[in-house]
Amino acid sequence: MPRSEQDSALEGVSQPLTDITIPPTPRPNHEVAAAGAPLDMPLVRETRRPARESGQRGRVVVITGAAAGIGRATALRFAEEGARIAAWDVSDQTASQLESAIKWAGGDCHFQVVDVANAKSVESAAAAVAEKWGRIDVLINNAGIVRDAQLVKWNGGSPASIMSEETWDSVIGVNMKGVFLVTRAVVPYMIKAGGGVILSAASVVGLLGNFGQTNYVASKAGVIGMTRTWARELGKYKIRVNAVAPGFIATDMVRSMPAKVLEAMVAHTPLGRAGTPEDVANTYLWLASDQASFIHGTVISVDGGVVIGT
Ligand code: NAD
Repeated sequence: MPRSEQDSALEGVSQPLTDITIPPTPRPNHEVAAAGAPLDMPLVRETRRPARESGQRGRVVVITGAAAGIGRATALRFAEEGARIAAWDVSDQTASQLESAIKWAGGDCHFQVVDVANAKSVESAAAAVAEKWGRIDVLINNAGIVRDAQLVKWNGGSPASIMSEETWDSVIGVNMKGVFLVTRAVVPYMIKAGGGVILSAASVVGLLGNFGQTNYVASKAGVIGMTRTWARELGKYKIRVNAVAPGFIATDMVRSMPAKVLEAMVAHTPLGRAGTPEDVANTYLWLASDQASFIHGTVISVDGGVVIGT
């Protein structure tokens, strides 16, 4: 029976409370109905719990590629929970705006220009975070690029174009080697601190493959492989390692694609829409929280159902 009906059913009843059996549920505050209390006393409603926090307050969260898209949304989402954000990006064009937005959202921000594909840049950035805040609790390997080309584009009986080595190297360098370099630099701080959480950006195409994306698909499949390997290696240090596989998320990365391709991507998404950066940010937040404390070595799809196929 809904609460309002229960309340009105009890109104005007004159027996002493002791003669009435009050079921323990669904009246959560039954203890307030002390013996002898008049029945017309308004029932005390269940005390409203304070908003559940994700447990990120004060945690030090390194986010790569934090200046745009999913990385930026993730930085702001963790900031709302009171985290300290070490924002790393190869570009500092929007750094001061990002810093103000993070502070406004409720977090603390330390921005550094970092190229995740460069070991020296990564090592010194990790050391700077540890020097500033003394620890690293969460790492989000988000930085990524696309450089699409067919492996061999055949036209008129001969190759019209191929995926160049440079195109291959650049994407593998940022998306896969970058995840390796950043994680390698951060893990010692987590081990020293007694644990941590590592989350990396894979992609639905790392699970399914994709036309024109040999390099990108290989890099994301590599991220999934490293995630599973690190889950085995780092679990004993209480470091949880997982990957997220977004589908089509509306960011600058995909906005440059032709309208026809974007429409087709939505058409292949059972939920019938593009994802938002916040959809992915919320997943990172949950995976980093203690609510996900037994989730380890897995890949969580955030793709509106793309991975089940159409
Ligand atoms: P985005 O292009 O909007 O932002 C990427 C950010 O990474 C930028 O700020 C860029 O400056 C930074 N970056 C690029 N190279 C870097 C480097 N060498 N070092 C440090 N920072 C670097 O991208 P996004 O759409 O927000 O994607 C974020 C992640 O999610 C990527 O790893 C991407 O592969 C993955 N992903 C995105 C989608 C999507 O549909 N948008 C789908 C699946 C996976």
